[in-house]
Amino acid sequence: MKTGIITTDSYLDHETGQGHPERADRVSIIISNLKKNKKLAWKKPANFDPKYLKIAHNPKYINQVEKSFPKKGLFFLDGDTIISPGSKRAASDAVGSIITAIDSVFKKEFKNVFCPVRPPGHHAEKNKAMGFCVYNNVAVGAHYLLEKYKLSKVAIIDFDVHHGNGTQNIFYENEKVLYISTHQYPFYPGTGSDNEKGKYNNIFNIPLPAGTNSEEYLNAYEHVLKKIKKFKPEFVLFSAGFDAHEDDPLAQFKLKSKDFYDITKRTLEVSNKSSDYKVVSILEGGYNLNALKESSEMHLNALIEN
Ligand SMILES: [Zn+2]
Repeated sequence: MKTGIITTDSYLDHETGQGHPERADRVSIIISNLKKNKKLAWKKPANFDPKYLKIAHNPKYINQVEKSFPKKGLFFLDGDTIISPGSKRAASDAVGSIITAIDSVFKKEFKNVFCPVRPPGHHAEKNKAMGFCVYNNVAVGAHYLLEKYKLSKVAIIDFDVHHGNGTQNIFYENEKVLYISTHQYPFYPGTGSDNEKGKYNNIFNIPLPAGTNSEEYLNAYEHVLKKIKKFKPEFVLFSAGFDAHEDDPLAQFKLKSKDFYDITKRTLEVSNKSSDYKVVSILEGGYNLNALKESSEMHLNALIEN
């Protein structure tokens, strides 16, 4: 079985305005680089039942967002979360990609899957768009695993340099989902201190200072690995942001591209036994094009090897 890449070109029409760091080039460079890799198989997202969006988010929020997509021009959902006419399809396809990815792993069509999509998702809360995120793609994916496949232990590993306040918010009182985040702290969005633990000790935050380098990061990551091992997830979802890279313009971690191979590899080594190799990864942040290209390739190399 091959590693799958699930995406479609509607991300090109999600316009965020000139000079916005979350732009279409980010996904284009990842896709054009991965197209060269013959070990990957490609697929487009299928349509999905919109009820799953309304499990992760408040139905009122979903209705409000759906009414906000402009007929022309741009609309600001918050100060930096901007949508255009094409965002409606792009946001829906981002969610559809993770749902299709999960189905294809269960059907054994792909051994694991990466979804290079935009808009990203991990800052979107139950009732709020935030930080370039409209729908919380990974949270919809996790709820889909609980509802459709009746799983009771899903781990979300978020190595984006920002704390995934949205994902934490959605699962704060859900003992079936373990949310783990490593992130620069204090930093945007302000949440993610280590005393935010969730109602069932199901939130595990590892805040790290600006300037954190590869060695310091991977040492801290040992705590993540211990937590995953103890939880024994039936399915692993990666919130794969690559903005912890040293060349990223938005944050101040100093990871190198190859660290994303190690992070992925080590995570899978401790989770494969309980998850039976079931893993889906979805793109979050990452704003330096070359760093995104290299880091996502490293992440994929570990998925392909697994
Ligand atoms: Zn980020």
